[in-house]
Amino acid sequence: MCIVCGRDLIESCFVFWDSDYCSYYCQRFYELKLTKYKPSKNTHTKHFEYYPPIVISCENCGEDTILRWRLQDSSKAFCSHKCNSAKVKSRSPKQYFPLKLLKHTKEPLLASEIAKQCDSQRAHRFTSHAICNILRIHSKKGIIERTGDSGYHKYAMAEQYKSHPVKSLLR
Ligand SMILES: [Zn+2]
Ligand SMILES: [Zn+2]
Repeated sequence: MCIVCGRDLIESCFVFWDSDYCSYYCQRFYELKLTKYKPSKNTHTKHFEYYPPIVISCENCGEDTILRWRLQDSSKAFCSHKCNSAKVKSRSPKQYFPLKLLKHTKEPLLASEIAKQCDSQRAHRFTSHAICNILRIHSKKGIIERTGDSGYHKYAMAEQYKSHPVKSLLR
C-alpha cells in the first residue's frame, strides 16, 4: 500500500519507481515535500483536498508534461501519444525499459533484479542474460556504469545521463 495515499501499487504496468509508492506521482509528491491543496472557498466544497499537478520532462522530446494523481496520468513518461510511440533504432524499443528503470533507482541493481522489474510491463519479456547484453552496449557508451564481480555485476546509470530523455539515448 502506498505510503502517501494508501492506494495499491499499480502492478499491471512497468514499475520504474520505488515500491513504497503506488505510482511515480506519489514518489515525487513525497520527495518534493508537497501538500494537498484546497482550491475552493465555497462553503460546500471547501473541505475538498486535491493533489497538485507535478511537472516532469518527456522521455522523448524533453518538454514539460504534467503528472497527476489520477491513475491514468500518475506514472506516465511521455507528453503525448506521438512521443510514446516515437521510433528509436530498430533493436532498441526493448532497451528503453532497463534504462528507464536505472534512471530512477537509487542503488545499483543486479541483472536479475532489473529483469524482474522490467517484466512488470507485458509487451517484452526479459531474462538476466538479455539485460546483460543490453546494458553492455550502453556501458561501452558510458551511459551505464558496471561494478562488482563477474556474474554479480551491479548496474547504475551514469549521473550525467539522468537528465537526458531516455529515448534520446536510443537513437
Ligand atoms: Zn499513492
Ligand atoms: Zn514529448
